[in-house]
Formats: sequence, C-alpha cells, structure tokens
Amino acid sequence: MMLTLVTLLESQAVSFVLAAATICALSAWLMVHLLHKAEVAPRGRRGRWLFGTALAAGLGVWTTHFMAMLGYRTDIILGYQYATTLASAGIAVIAVGLPFALSALPSSRSLRGALGAAAGLGIGAMHITGMAALEGCTQSQSVLANGLACLWGAAFLALIRALPKGRRPYLVPCLLIVMAVCGTHFISLAGTVLDGQRVGDLVSNIQVALSVLTAAGAAILILGAFIALAATKRFEAQETAHLNVLATALQNMSNGILKISPGGRVELYNQRLCGMLGLSSDDLFAGMRLEQFLQATGDANSWDADRVTKVLHNHWLWMGKTEETRIEHHFDDGRILSIACQPVATGAVLTYEDVTRDRRAQEKILHLAYHDPLTGLSNRLGLSERMLAGYRKGERSTLLLLDLDRFKSVNDTFGHAIGDRLLVAVAGRLRSQLGEEGFIARHGGDELAIITPGDHLFGEELAQRIVMDIERPYTLDTVTVTIGCSIGICSVGDSTGPDDWMQRADIALYEAKRRGGGQAMNYQTGMIEAHTERFHLENDLRSALAQQQFHLVYQPIMALATDRVVAFEALIRWNHPHRGLVSPVEFIPLAEDNGLIVPIGKWVLEQACREAATWPAEQHLAVNVSAVQLRSPLLMAHVVGALAQSGLPAHRLELELTETALVEDGRQIVHTLAALRQLGIKIAMDDFGTGYSSLAHLRDLPLDRIKIDRSFVAAALNDKQCLAVIKAVTQMGRDMDIPTLAEGVESLDQLDLLRSIGCDAVQGYLIGRPDSKVQCSVPGEISQAA
Ligand code: C2E
Ligand code: MG
Ligand code: MG
Repeated sequence: MMLTLVTLLESQAVSFVLAAATICALSAWLMVHLLHKAEVAPRGRRGRWLFGTALAAGLGVWTTHFMAMLGYRTDIILGYQYATTLASAGIAVIAVGLPFALSALPSSRSLRGALGAAAGLGIGAMHITGMAALEGCTQSQSVLANGLACLWGAAFLALIRALPKGRRPYLVPCLLIVMAVCGTHFISLAGTVLDGQRVGDLVSNIQVALSVLTAAGAAILILGAFIALAATKRFEAQETAHLNVLATALQNMSNGILKISPGGRVELYNQRLCGMLGLSSDDLFAGMRLEQFLQATGDANSWDADRVTKVLHNHWLWMGKTEETRIEHHFDDGRILSIACQPVATGAVLTYEDVTRDRRAQEKILHLAYHDPLTGLSNRLGLSERMLAGYRKGERSTLLLLDLDRFKSVNDTFGHAIGDRLLVAVAGRLRSQLGEEGFIARHGGDELAIITPGDHLFGEELAQRIVMDIERPYTLDTVTVTIGCSIGICSVGDSTGPDDWMQRADIALYEAKRRGGGQAMNYQTGMIEAHTERFHLENDLRSALAQQQFHLVYQPIMALATDRVVAFEALIRWNHPHRGLVSPVEFIPLAEDNGLIVPIGKWVLEQACREAATWPAEQHLAVNVSAVQLRSPLLMAHVVGALAQSGLPAHRLELELTETALVEDGRQIVHTLAALRQLGIKIAMDDFGTGYSSLAHLRDLPLDRIKIDRSFVAAALNDKQCLAVIKAVTQMGRDMDIPTLAEGVESLDQLDLLRSIGCDAVQGYLIGRPDSKVQCSVPGEISQAA
C-alpha cells in the first residue's frame, strides 16, 4: 500500500506543484480577507483579526513552500531536519505574517507599502531557511537568484499594500500574492542545484509519511480556516443585524446624539441632531473636528465668533470632567435644548433634547401661579414675593394699596362682565401711569397694589395722578361708568417687615376710605395705634347694646317765633365700663362701618319714642338716622315698630339725615323718604353746609327742615362768608317753605343775629345742653332778652 502511494506521489510531481499553487491561492484569499477585516474592525477588536492574518499569511506561505518542495525533486530522496523545518514555519509567521498583518494599521500608503515589502522579503527568508532544512542531499544556491527572489516577493507585496483599492478588492491582491510567493520560490529554485540518492525502490518511508502529513496538515489548515471564516461570517451577519437595529434606533430616536473622540473628532451622530441644530447633512460628518462642528452650528444659528468660542470652551470643559454635565442652551429663535455631556473612556457622548415645549408649559404654569388671569397683573402670591424680595434687597420703594370706590355698585348694576372689563381698563390705566417696568398686582376683587421705587413723596405724587386718572369716565360697550379710588401709601422705610409694610399701607388706605374715599393717604405715625384702638373699640361696641351701656340725652330746640321749646333731639351716649363716656362722633362711624348702627339705631328709635310719648303732646322728637340705616330695608319696620310700641303719633317724630346720606343713592332715598312722609313723619337735613351743599338737593328732596351746621353759626359774627351762607339758606328755605334751624347757638349775640336773619328755630348750649331729663322751659336770660 505504501509502495502504491509512493508511486502515486512520484507520478504526481506536477500535481504537487499545482496543489502548492492552489494552497497558495486559497491562503492568499484568506490573507486578503482577514487583512480587510483587521482594517475595518473597531479599534478594540482589531487584535484577533491581526493575529489571524499573521497566522494565515505565515502558514499559507510556508505550506505553499513545503508542498512545492515535495513536487520539486521527486527523483531524489530528500530528508528534512525537524528543527529547521519548524524554524522556517516560525520565520514564515514572524517575517511574512506579522509585517503583512501590521500593514492594516497605518493610514499612510507608503508605510503600508514598506510593511508589504518587509513581508515580501520574509518570503525569501522563509524559503532559504526551508531549503536549509533539507538533508540527505547536496545543494548549492545562487546568491543572485536568492536576492532576486527576495526582491521579487518584496516588490509584489509592496505593490499590493501600497496600491489604492480597486474595483476588485480581492482578485488583484490574491493574484499578486500568488505571483509573489510562487515567483520568489521559482526564482530561488532556478539558482539551486540539488543532488542526492536517486529514488528507486528505496523510497524513504519518512519522506512519504512527511508528504502525506504535510498534505493532510495543509488540508486541515485550509479547512479550519474556511470553517473559522464561515463562523465569522455568521457572527458578522448577527453583528450586522444587531448594528442595523442599533442604527435604526439611533436614527429614529427623539433625541439628538453625538459621540466625540478623546481627540475631539466627531465619531457618531444621528440625523435628529442635524435637525435640532439646523445643520444640513453635508455640515456634519464623521471625522470632523469638534471646532468645525461647533462653527457649523454657530453659522446655522447666526452666532458671533465669541459665542462659538465660548461654546467650544464649554464643550472641552464638560468632556474633561468625570461626571455628567447637563445644561440648557437657549437659542435666539426661542428654542431651548437640554444638552447632557457624559464623559466615557473613549471620549464623550452628548445627547440633545428639545425641551422648548416643556419649558414654555412650565413658564405658563408659573405665570398662572403668580398672575391674575383677568388683568395679567401679578396676583397676591406675586405681590408678597415681590415685597419680600424688595425687602431682602433693601431697596428704597413705596407700596401703594388701591381700593376702587363704587366698584361694587358697577358690578351689581351692570353685571360681572362689565365689572371685569372695568378692571381690565383700570389695569390698563395703571400700566400707562407706571410704564411696563412698574409692578402692579391685583390682590383682591377690586384691590390693587403698586410697588414703586423712591420714597413716600414720590409715591404720593404718583398716587395723586392715579386718583385723577381712575376718576375719568370709562366707556365699556354702551355703558359709561365712573368710579373713584382710595390709596394707602407706605414707604418701606416706615415698616419693620413685609407684613408690617402691607399692614401699614392697608391702615393708610382704611383711613383714606374713612375720610370719604377718592383720595390718597400716606401712612403717618400713630395710625397703627389709632387703628388698634379703633379695633378694640369696635369689639367693645358689639357687646355694648346687650350690656345696656347706651343711654339717650335730649337737647331742646326752640322756635324763634314763640321762644318756646318745641322739640328735643335725641343724642346717644355710650358709657364705656373703662373709658367712661365715649363720644358718638367716635363710635357712630365705627358702628356704620360694621353695620352695628342698624340695631343701635333701632334701639335709639324705640327708646326715644317711648320717652317722647311721655312728654307734653306739643313736644316733638328729633332722632338722628345715619346713611347706613337709611339704606337698610329694615328702617321702615324699625320706625313703624317704635311708633307702634310707644304710641307716639307719627307727626311728632322728625328724622335727621345728613346731606351726604341723602344724596348717596338718589332714587331709592326719595322713595324711602316719600314713604316715611306719607306716615306723617318729618324729615330734616342735618348739618347743612358740611356735605355736598348743593342747592339742587333742597329742590329735589322732600324736606321739612334744614339744620344749618353749627360751624357757620360759630363763625357768623366774625366771618362774612359764613354769615352770607346762613342768610342765603334761610332765605331760600323761606322761599321754598322749608323751615330752617341754626345749630350750636351758644351766645345771645348769635341768637339775636339768627333772629334778625329770620331763622325759624335754634338749638345749642344757650337754649339747653343735651340732658337725660327734658326741660321744656327756656333759660330766663333768653326770655328776658326777647
Ligand atoms: P348732630 O346730629 O349734629 O348733633 C348735634 C351735636 O352737636 C351733638 O353732639 C350735640 O351735643 C352738639 N351740640 C349741640 N349744641 C351745641 C353747642 O351749642 N355747641 C357745641 N359745640 N356743640 C353742640 P353729639 O351728641 O356729640 O353728637 C354728635 C353727632 O353724633 C350728632 O351730630 C349726630 O350726627 C351723631 N349722633 C348722636 N346721636 C346719634 C344717634 O342716636 N344716631 C345717629 N345715627 N347719630 C347720632
Ligand atoms: Mg342731629
Ligand atoms: Mg347737626
């Protein structure tokens, strides 16, 4: 069997050469393929491809050599030294495979060519070593042929590595490798002379075994290589599928992504990023420098050079950190990108998210939290935060608290839609007074606040302007309305904290309203104490009625025609358990403010009527009725009830109303007065001359008496104007058939004057002081004087 194989081998010398060429071609294909893989593999995964290339190149060339040698001289018996043969395989891997594999790394073509040339020289070195392993023969080699062989190999492999890739990236290099390997061997062998024992029947078993083993080894090697390649292909297919999924995800994710190398080059990005930064697909490409990328971004968004430099500087800063940096970049067109820079071992990964909508929504929510949706002004929360901030900064500013006078009646009369429009119009006027920079808040229905820089003097000036501006009529749809406003002013320096600041301005506002509204009031020292005092008084007033702390006194009224007391005015007195007697001038306005005047007024009516019912039948009773009582729907019931309970005839009762109360709500008042007069009750206008003092009121209102205020009487003897007023009112009353009464007569001179002018009646200390006991006779001096 062995003999048969030897014969076969002998007769197949050409077959060995063909087999060698085939193995050479196959290993060439393997080398080119693995080298290509090493070139395109990511950095971290190149090692195994380089190793495979070196092994395939070295062993492929060596196997080719060995197969060729088997077919070279089949006529003589050749032996092989094991060590040198193995050394030739090692040289093949190190001298051919290694430089060939390393030529995948450099980007420069000349360097690649140099490494290719080194590998070519390696083929010669491996061949010479392989030849040195032959034993059992004599051999001589030509140095020239060997030199040429080496140059041949070097030239071809250099060519393969230095040439740019053509249209057939596998075919041309494979052919050139086969040329290099086979050519090197043939040139060298051409100069080699070999002689030895002829092959006869004495074929060395070792040679045969070696031949078989080498052929089997080469076959296993190439088969293994193909199996490995097939496995690699499968792995690659999986990897490609995986990469495709990743690429699809990357391109379709909602965020922009950018991978920068440690050297500052763009390695990876997605199309979403181009869209976010306004870049075209030509502007952004892998391999571009970070500077180029940011310059392109700057160009697309009209940034100036400084901004580009600053942004570049920031990028380097973030990439140099170990932690993630997250910032928000505001573009000039209003877009906001959230940029996260995560430094990684291989550079940095930047993700971009468009948060414009989120931020706008947040801004809107924040705006709603701090602003009044109707007027767009700040709300209560905005005001308190602004005050707190101003206080902390120690800014010199003044707070103006505004309250709209008669806003409620506009709302009640024309409805809330008009009321809302009125508020919007008021806000507009305030804005035009303060400019866009001024801080205005609406912190209640018709309560507004302004914080203005400067001290209270500046605040007062502004407040005066506002009062006048707000009073101008408003035309809303078809309706024209007029309102007023009261303002409380307090500068920050007059307060001890934001709450105190607000409280003091509020007290000043209260004071402005208490004085009739339509005016501005600066906070003055002592106001807060007075307010506290009033607060306590108001508290005490609530229980005063139940605790029977009120009583009435009566002041006589004398008719000048008869010089007889014809009536008594009931005046309330409050005997406070701690304060003693409290003047009605102090507590009546308080009772009017909190509505207590209605039950108090009822008590006065009942008490006075009960008392008056015991007086002589010709004596009349005058009772003061405040504006709040007059507006109350209970007044009629209280009056009728008091008359009914006491049995006092209605014609003996006279109600005194102030001029202000009478004109406040014209039409309604006329109705109430008419109803009271129908019962026989008389109506007097009290304190005439201190209120609106319009003569038209005397004409329009159904009156039974005009009481001229005591301030005119007090000054009449010395002040011509006061005298003129008394004379005019008296004359007018006479003309209109309305009797007149002069209040506060304290001296006989005053009495004489009033008598000469023609007043119908007088009242005052001269006639009698208010007293709990009624005295129907006049003092002796008056009757004597008369
Ligand atoms: P009025 O209705 O004008 O009452 C007259 C005020 O003048 C009384 O003060 C009286 O004491 C004072 N007076 C009378 N003669 C003289 C005088 O010769 N010289 C001076 N200097 N004063 C004189 P009073 O009692 O302090 O009342 C003050 C105001 O309080 C009243 O002014 C009235 O508007 C209000 N008032 C008093 N009692 C009541 C009441 O029961 N109900 C209501 N709604 N108001 C009342
Ligand atoms: Mg009175
Ligand atoms: Mg009076």
